[in-house]
Order: sequence, then C-alpha cells, then structure tokens
Amino acid sequence: MIKQKQKINADFIKNSLSPLDFYRYELPTAPLKKAGWNDGGLCPFHSDNKPGSFRVNLTTGAYKCFACASAGGDVVAFTMALYAVNFGDAMNKLANEWGLL
Ligand SMILES: [Zn+2]
Repeated sequence: MIKQKQKINADFIKNSLSPLDFYRYELPTAPLKKAGWNDGGLCPFHSDNKPGSFRVNLTTGAYKCFACASAGGDVVAFTMALYAVNFGDAMNKLANEWGLL
C-alpha cells in the first residue's frame, strides 16, 4: 500500500470555506448579507473611492469589478489576485489561515 500524502485541492478548499466567511474577513467594510451577488464595497484591485462597482457572489465565491474589470470565479482566484500568489500558494494560504489542513 502506498501511503497517501494529504493533498490540498481546490474543491476541498471551496467545499470547506464559505464565501460569506471568507469575504467578511477580506472585505470587512462590505455590506455582505445574502446568497448570490452582493455589493462588495470598495474594490481592492484599484484605488476605489466610490462603492458600487465591486461585487462578490456569496454562493460561488466569484467576484467582479465593473470599474477595473478584475474578475474571478472563486475564493482561490480572489486570493491569487489580491496577494499576487500562484495557485498552489493561494491554496496553502487559505488552508493555513482557515485551519483546513
Ligand atoms: Zn476594481
């Protein structure tokens, strides 16, 4: 028998981490409350001073800014973009910070 090393994969992260918890932590001033698309407050990807352009989806974890066109499909993509890290580092960061290991 080969001993399996525990692997972190994107599905595991996405199934374990609620987009609501994640975005409340990353966007503490955003008025997040419901499933689906929400006002994400000020966009973290451009120097935003006018709320209304940045949206996050609390069902899927997707995000989109209509002012600077930053967009991604899930919390891993958001982490990669915000912290300028690659896919593997983003998953490690999420797993460590959210106690998913
Ligand atoms: Zn933006």
